[in-house]
Amino acid sequence: MQRTDIKSLSFRELEQALKGLGMPAYSAGQIFVWLYKRHATDFGLMTNISKPSRLLLAQHFEIGSLKPLARQTGRDGTTKYQFMLSDGYSIESVLIPMGRWHTLCLSTQVGCALGCRFCLTGIKGFKRNLSVSEITCQLELVQAENPGTPVSHIVFMGMGEPFANYDNTLRAIDVLTSEYGYQYSHRRVTVSTAGLVPQIRRFIGESRANLAVSLNALYDDTRTAMMPINSRYPLGELIDVLKDYHKKRKGWITFEYVMIKGVNDGIGHAIQLAKLTRDFPFKVNLIPLNRHRGADYERPDDDRVQAFQEYLLGHNIVCMVRTTHGEEIDAACGQLGGGKVERNTSDLPQDSGGHPAQHRGNFQGGIDGH
Ligand code: SF4
Repeated sequence: MQRTDIKSLSFRELEQALKGLGMPAYSAGQIFVWLYKRHATDFGLMTNISKPSRLLLAQHFEIGSLKPLARQTGRDGTTKYQFMLSDGYSIESVLIPMGRWHTLCLSTQVGCALGCRFCLTGIKGFKRNLSVSEITCQLELVQAENPGTPVSHIVFMGMGEPFANYDNTLRAIDVLTSEYGYQYSHRRVTVSTAGLVPQIRRFIGESRANLAVSLNALYDDTRTAMMPINSRYPLGELIDVLKDYHKKRKGWITFEYVMIKGVNDGIGHAIQLAKLTRDFPFKVNLIPLNRHRGADYERPDDDRVQAFQEYLLGHNIVCMVRTTHGEEIDAACGQLGGGKVERNTSDLPQDSGGHPAQHRGNFQGGIDGH
């Protein structure tokens, strides 16, 4: 019998599945606690569930995990983790220390189909969506490696466009924020999109997590050249849905603005950006382009970045130049690669279902989004 990865279910879906097996719905809370607070790797460990129910669970479900492949730490403490999936693809997550906060940047896809020209993930193309289990296991394994430094904030800004894997992204948020799961406040979870308008519209009504938009340009021709998705959802439509977001959610929007020399680093772009404040409040993270293999764009001069920032600050816009984290280890924005791991997965320890065995820890050094 094909078993379902139990970590790929939201809380409500697990309740429904248990009812279908004749088990009480309240066991969903018990199972979530075992999976996400105690990190159980075997149904046999779930001792507050009856033995027949545990056997039934093991017949129908498996407990998914990832295989840690490598870890690399930059000068500022930013650490990039690489994980192998059961089909041999690899993904990456980035842990960014910022004072007493630790932000974890999660991937939602292997590669990305949106093809933003400044992004290594996009240049490498799309392979597949991640399951909920593959998304939340990134947190589980990074946290297991760093027990003394709890991850305080989660951002969906790693490999992939989260809204192109919308349902699994929302299920993952459900696990992250569930009282029986990781118990994060929605205020500490942010989803970043390149601007998929229909999904933003759904998100407004279906999630309480924060929204960030990878904006990058204020003219359609410039934005389309940088981000082909803009030809499908041009700036006018994007701004309209963001107005709606503010009207209904009252929340601030964060704009990520990757600055590229001679493309979008002029004062004209800053002026256009400042005009948006008439419509809704927002903050801006300016991100001078990170170098990566394959990019044909250049990083802007520091004085251009400074002038851009000063213009926005002068118009009372909260604006930070984001310190580049982990550029030397290719862990900064737009530098995540991943892909197929060039080794046979049969070399890896296997669990009884033939998947790479559960690993918590044991990262090796040296590995080669938004
Ligand atoms: S910036 Fe984000 S949406 Fe664009 S290609 Fe990269 S991962 Fe995909």
